[in-house]
Amino acid sequence: QFTAYYTSRDYAQGVNLQGRESTSSRPVQLSVHLHPYGDGRCLLLSRDITALEQAEAMRRDFVANVSHEIRTPLTVLMGFIETLQTLPLSDEERERYLGLMGQQAARMQSVVQDLLTLSRMEGSPPPSLTEWTPVRHLLARCEEEARALTRLLTPEGAAPHQIHFPAEVPGDIAGAPAELHSALSNLAANAVRYTPAGGVITVTWQRLNSGAARFAVRDTGMGIAPEHLPRITERFYRVDRSRSRETGGTGLGLAIVKHALQRHGAQLHIPSTVGQGSEFEIIFPPNRLRG
Ligand code: ADP
Repeated sequence: QFTAYYTSRDYAQGVNLQGRESTSSRPVQLSVHLHPYGDGRCLLLSRDITALEQAEAMRRDFVANVSHEIRTPLTVLMGFIETLQTLPLSDEERERYLGLMGQQAARMQSVVQDLLTLSRMEGSPPPSLTEWTPVRHLLARCEEEARALTRLLTPEGAAPHQIHFPAEVPGDIAGAPAELHSALSNLAANAVRYTPAGGVITVTWQRLNSGAARFAVRDTGMGIAPEHLPRITERFYRVDRSRSRETGGTGLGLAIVKHALQRHGAQLHIPSTVGQGSEFEIIFPPNRLRG
């Protein structure tokens, strides 16, 4: 490829080559450009554009995914509108259709809301190191929401989830309260959403000897197979598509969690336990904790 470029004597553009040690799991892309100068001389400029190409591929995938996520409910919505416009319907049928249309519109709204949350985080300065929120407030709100979600999702006659939160948690955490809340409550909500009725959800908070703190959510649900773990926090990556949809998921929850945590210098760990439920663990750094 390079020889063909070199002998063409047309150096207005560069040429992209695959790096010598490029593999499908570790692609290497090089951009090579010859710049003639002086008396028959040539300057060869070679750049590693792997990261650039990857970012571009991710951007393309992302746009395609967003379009798909919005288009699907929109197509259903258009179908209902056409039905309402063309068929003579009874009042009950009309009511039912409007209800279904509402569901599709709500789905689109959740996707847009989550996308805005992500883009707000990307565009805002790093979270404060001096704005302190009591950990117990964050946990109390998280618990309230998890219990409300259980009530909403438990089928009639089935046992609700058993939800356990720590009773008294002292201390404060520094950062953006909305982002911290979003990270903790997304994990608790997922535990509820991916655990069948009657399952057990246990949330813990401990200070570690290092001064860091560990927040963990354990459930007795379907668990996650290890091959999904490397991709699970990617935008729109779903393991259980139908359960995600039934419970109002957008596929963006864990992407928001990961992003919010990264901004706070915290780490997300997901030990894999197929058949035994899942566990999601966050380690918060000591510099954001007090008391
Ligand atoms: P979603 O809105 O689809 O739930 P998330 O980003 O929150 O999106 O999660 C991504 C995927 O990870 C989900 O679709 C689901 O398949 C899987 N997942 C997340 N949390 C759990 C859990 N506690 N147990 C089992 N699977 C989970």
